[in-house]
Amino acid sequence: MAKPKYKSLRGMPDIIPPEAEIISCIENKAREVFRTFCYSEIRTPLLEETEVFTRSIGEDTDIVEKEMYSFTDRGGKNISLRPEGTASIIRSYIEHGWFNTGGVVKLCYFGPMFRGERPQKGRLRQFNQIGAEIIGASSPYIDAEIILNLEAVLKGLGVEGFTLLINSLGCGKDRDGYTGALAAYLKEKEAYLCDDCKRRSRSNVLRVLDCKREGCKKVVKEAPSVLEHLCEACQSDHEALKEILVEMGMDFTEKKDLVRGLDYYTGTVFEVVHPSLGSQDAIAAGGRYDELTREMGGPDTGATGYAIGIERLLLVIDKKKIAREHAEAVVIPVGDEHKKEAFDLTNKFRASGIPCQMDHSGRSFKGQMRKADKEGKRFVVLLGEDEIKSGKVLVKDMKLGEQKMLTFEEAVEELKREQV
Ligand SMILES: [Zn+2]
Ligand SMILES: [Zn+2]
Repeated sequence: MAKPKYKSLRGMPDIIPPEAEIISCIENKAREVFRTFCYSEIRTPLLEETEVFTRSIGEDTDIVEKEMYSFTDRGGKNISLRPEGTASIIRSYIEHGWFNTGGVVKLCYFGPMFRGERPQKGRLRQFNQIGAEIIGASSPYIDAEIILNLEAVLKGLGVEGFTLLINSLGCGKDRDGYTGALAAYLKEKEAYLCDDCKRRSRSNVLRVLDCKREGCKKVVKEAPSVLEHLCEACQSDHEALKEILVEMGMDFTEKKDLVRGLDYYTGTVFEVVHPSLGSQDAIAAGGRYDELTREMGGPDTGATGYAIGIERLLLVIDKKKIAREHAEAVVIPVGDEHKKEAFDLTNKFRASGIPCQMDHSGRSFKGQMRKADKEGKRFVVLLGEDEIKSGKVLVKDMKLGEQKMLTFEEAVEELKREQV
C-alpha cells in the first residue's frame, strides 16, 4: 500500500478501537461514582479567550509560556485551545451567575485538553481528562470530600497501589511571606539554577519549584518549606484535613515541595502517583483555589478540584476489567435465498438488545462461517430451509462448541445470558 498522504499531528493520535471504547467505559464508570457524590456534568468549549487561561494559570507557568495552542481568529481575537478544565469552569460559573443561587456547586467534566509538550509515554498534546470541582465554599471537609471522591473514582476503575501526596500552599498572605523566604534562598543558589529559573526567581518564584532540570531540583530539595510559613488558620485547616483523612482510612504522604505547576492554587494541594509510571508518575492532581473566582471577576468564594489524566490511567489499569466483552452474534443464511429472512432476524435480535450483524461481503456460506470463527464471534445463528419451516433458528456457541435449535424467544434468552 502507498504511504498515506495525510497523518494525524504529532502528539494528537487517533483513538481507535478498542481504546476508544475503553475510554468510554472509564468515563461511564466515573459518571456512576460522580452520581453517588451528587456532581452534575458540565461541558465547556474547547476554545476560550486566551486571557481566561493566562489570568488563571499564570503568565510565568510552563503551560502559558510554552505549551498553549494560541492563535488569532478571523475577528482578531486572541483565543486558545483549553490546556486544562478549571479556568473555563470558573469563567462559566461567573458568567452564569451561579453564585446567586447560593450554596455549593459540584461539577464534573470529561474531555480533551491541549498542551504543546514533547510527546512521551502517557503524555500527549491532545489528552483526555476526567475532572471535578466544588465551588462556593472552603473547608477541610470539602478538601476531604474531593479527595475521597477521587479515591472512589480510581477504586471504581480498579486502580490499585497508588499513593496520595498532600501539601498546603497557605493563603495569599502566607505565600507572600513564603515567596520572600524562597526568593532569598534562591538568590544564594542562583549559580546552580537554569536560565528560566533565574528569571522566575525574580518574576514568579514558586514556579522554580516545578522545574524539571536536575540542577534546579537539587536546589529546590534544600529550599525552605511552605509549611513553615502557614498562618494559624491555614495550619489548623491542614491539620484538620489530615485528621479527617486518617479517620476515613485514607493513606497519604505529606510532601512539602508539592506545589503543582499552576498559579491559582492556594491551601491544600494534592497529587495521586503510581509507582509503575517512573518519573512522570502522577495520574491525578488538584487542590484548592480560593482566590481564582475573585481574580477572574467573580465573588470572593472558595473552590477546589482535581483532574485525572486518562492516558496515564490507561498505563496502570487492567483494561480487560474495564471494557465490556461483547458476546456478538452473526446471522448467516443457509443459502442466498434466505437473505431477507436473515436480515429481518438480525434486526429483531438488535431490537431485543443483542449485538448482532450479518456478513454483507458476498462471501460463501463456508466463508462466512470461517470469518465469524476467525474474528472470535461468540455466536453464529443459522437460518435455512429447516429452521424457517419449524419456526426456529440454529444457535451455535463458538466458544463452547455447542449448538441448539431454539425459538426466537429462546434464542434471545440464550444470547442475553452471555451479555455483561
Ligand atoms: Zn494562611
Ligand atoms: Zn530550572
